[in-house]
Amino acid sequence: MTPEKLAFENKKLEKRLCREVGRAIVDYHMIEEGDRVMVCLSGGKDSYGLLDILMKLQKRAPVNFELIAVNLDQKQPGFPDHVLPAYLSKLGIPYHIETQDTYSIVKEKIEPGKTMCSLCSRLRRGILYRVAKELGATKIALGHHRDDMLQTLFLNMFFGGKLKGMPAKLVSDNGEFMVIRPLAYVPEKDLIRWAEYREFPIIPCTLCGSQENLQRKQVGNLLRDWDKQFPGRLENMLHALQNVVPSHLMDRSLYPFQTLQTTGMANEDGDKAFDADDPVPPPALADDGALDDEAAPRAGNETRARAVIPIAAH
Ligand code: SF4
Repeated sequence: MTPEKLAFENKKLEKRLCREVGRAIVDYHMIEEGDRVMVCLSGGKDSYGLLDILMKLQKRAPVNFELIAVNLDQKQPGFPDHVLPAYLSKLGIPYHIETQDTYSIVKEKIEPGKTMCSLCSRLRRGILYRVAKELGATKIALGHHRDDMLQTLFLNMFFGGKLKGMPAKLVSDNGEFMVIRPLAYVPEKDLIRWAEYREFPIIPCTLCGSQENLQRKQVGNLLRDWDKQFPGRLENMLHALQNVVPSHLMDRSLYPFQTLQTTGMANEDGDKAFDADDPVPPPALADDGALDDEAAPRAGNETRARAVIPIAAH
């Protein structure tokens, strides 16, 4: 690729990232005037990308909000504790490094060979909530992206027996904070490319020595294979999460199946119970392989086609 072509592609990627993050922020009312957003930075590509894009949007947003980057140094062996302070000082953004040796606690409590992630995450969550309170943060921003959300949906279906994903916005389990995921619409592959282009000083996530979550890895591979074989499928799955039809699922608490009555009236949009499955038109693709927003809206894509993103409209 020529340097000109590369620069063009990177500019396109930046626009797309800003547009998608802006769209999620608007769709879910994630950031409001006067918010103080605590951005959790792990040193991985996703959280670097999140901070980077939020800083770009902050300059052009119609609302004023503050950003403060927070990293929790869990004292994992070999954690390069100079990397993030050096990076954040260079950016000139307010930041806080919280040092808490959760690594020793987890090592002490969990038998060797058992996965440490559940206790580790619980401890980390508690600490981050406390830090958010001390810093006066009104929102906590996490770097989970579209693929994380879809993986979670599948993991919950396969192993949890629940149709449950990872929300773009939620109230923290202690009821005190609004947690937001501004990368909810962003595909992981875009974050990988962005991290390479921006040369983020990535800190490896294997320092704790925990075994990889095999199931999450398998589901991740499945989604990546699908994405290669059937471009647009993951995008469509994300739309599906935003277009839930309780009458066509089986949750009796969401739809009154037991008291359902016939109406005697024809309904053009009603279910044709004995027809073959409705044919679903294939997604329209833009020249960069992304789903084309301007394409004729199809079922499940109306919201996307209508979305206006004032804070990322450049
Ligand atoms: S991978 Fe390591 S640092 Fe991450 S949650 Fe698991 S134990 Fe904690």
